[in-house]
Amino acid sequence: MAKSLKVNFERLQADVETLARIGRHENYSLYRMAFSEGDQAAREWLQKRIQEAGLDLYVDGAANIHARFNWDGQRPSIMTGSHIDTVPGAGHLDGALGVLVGLECLRRFKELGLSLRHAVEAIAFTDEEGRFGGMLGSQAICGQLTPEAIYNARDLDGMSLSQVMTAQGLNPTDILRARRKPESVLAFLELHIEQGPVLEREGVSIGVVEGIVGLFKWEATLKGTANHAGTTPMDMRQDAFQGLAEFAGEIPRILEENGSARSVATIGRVEIFPGAANVVPGSVKFSLDVRDTEGVILRDLADAFRRALSAIARRRGLMFEFEVLSEIEPVKCDPGLMEAIFDAARNLGVEPLQMPSGAAHDTQIMATLTRAGMIFVPSQGGRSHSPAEWTPWEDIEIGANVALNTLYQLAH
Ligand SMILES: [Zn+2]
Repeated sequence: MAKSLKVNFERLQADVETLARIGRHENYSLYRMAFSEGDQAAREWLQKRIQEAGLDLYVDGAANIHARFNWDGQRPSIMTGSHIDTVPGAGHLDGALGVLVGLECLRRFKELGLSLRHAVEAIAFTDEEGRFGGMLGSQAICGQLTPEAIYNARDLDGMSLSQVMTAQGLNPTDILRARRKPESVLAFLELHIEQGPVLEREGVSIGVVEGIVGLFKWEATLKGTANHAGTTPMDMRQDAFQGLAEFAGEIPRILEENGSARSVATIGRVEIFPGAANVVPGSVKFSLDVRDTEGVILRDLADAFRRALSAIARRRGLMFEFEVLSEIEPVKCDPGLMEAIFDAARNLGVEPLQMPSGAAHDTQIMATLTRAGMIFVPSQGGRSHSPAEWTPWEDIEIGANVALNTLYQLAH
């Protein structure tokens, strides 16, 4: 068994606690939406920490912050990282933990005077959480953005990305220059909190992500006839909500017959029209969000849901229509990287759990550029995007050490 490297855990813990205090907002607890005041303060703090560690600091055209070790501009990098922007009312670990663990790993490599074959970069990606659509920084690095996409990007208040960047002395056109050549990156590793309840339930400290789920999101409508709730006999109604209720009841069967054990489907929003207690619903508009780790299964499920809704509509004299709001292909993690994470964990005496990621991450974008892998640490109660977000410090320490040894294995 190879000897394992260890992070300086007190230093990492202090960094996590310090960053958790940056961007506190009176209404939203933690508020570091991309390019907000809190995000700016966190970015400045992180850049200072990188310089204090004696690592090379680089900020690319998309405002991604890179800490670099063993960098000479020639040799390719092993990259690690995540994001420090947050949703409103966020927890302190989503994204931040992966960035700070990355920084700590580089500091350890430098302190230990390790001679590595490759460069190592720890990165904080810009706007992962989606003030301007999400995954902005990683999409820029992977060359997925067009000038149109950049100039059309707006937040919910109608502020454009160009406006916001220009106000901060940044040039939005430079986003296109953040693109990296595939040969300049050998691998990407992200450590992240699970944001779900599985690791905690299984009592396991480390998850090795095998892939990130894909999804399709529909906005669907069932149309019937609005009518008097007192005078219209039950057998003469075209009640749109009854159609939706029947469909909702069929979801478990549709998943069982057409999906995998990992398929999930959610109707998260329903609007009933006209929406009065004494009127038979004339139409219902609802969202359908379906996820799985396999593209083929997602396509089968889309067919099955469409057939089920059409059949219900036919039987009940309703009209069914839907619009696809988004479709994201699932992404597979690299088997070699998964193996490296397993090895690093077992050398530390930890048996990890192989699992999918139900949430989206920069890793799924980075996987289009290079081989990618992800380490999960448990989320207490599965809570995330909430001030209740918490991971026990012991698990954070194990996760950081697994990341350190995985990166070392990849870079040396
Ligand atoms: Zn995140």
